[in-house]
Amino acid sequence: MTDIRQGGCLCGNARYEINLDGYKTSNCHCLDCRRHAGAPYVTFTIVPLEQFRWINKPQGEIKTSQTAVRRFCAICGTYLQWEGEDQSHLAEINTATIDDPSGLIPTYEIYTKSRMDGVMPVSDAKQYREGEQL
Ligand SMILES: [Zn+2]
Ligand SMILES: [Zn+2]
Repeated sequence: MTDIRQGGCLCGNARYEINLDGYKTSNCHCLDCRRHAGAPYVTFTIVPLEQFRWINKPQGEIKTSQTAVRRFCAICGTYLQWEGEDQSHLAEINTATIDDPSGLIPTYEIYTKSRMDGVMPVSDAKQYREGEQL
């Protein structure tokens, strides 16, 4: 059964639609995600690019490394999407911005080498010290 959901930023300016067929959900503990979100880690939900569309695309983008652009709302600052240059066939969306994120449980975690103290691994989730090649 097709599971299509919508999401967006805090102020409501950025909006999107995502089709969750075959999705993967993971936690990223990398320093850049942590700092951008202002949170201990970011939970991403990943689908093929053609299963994602912006209803209203946010203006904010920042390139903090050679490999990726991070997209965010330029008004309220919400971190919405990670766009990897070698993963341009995928849409990687900040799960916490989906209106109804129920059931999207991380099955793996990446950059666990920089997991913050006090943050426990998700039980049964695969653990990768660095990135996982998708
Ligand atoms: Zn916003
Ligand atoms: Zn990250």
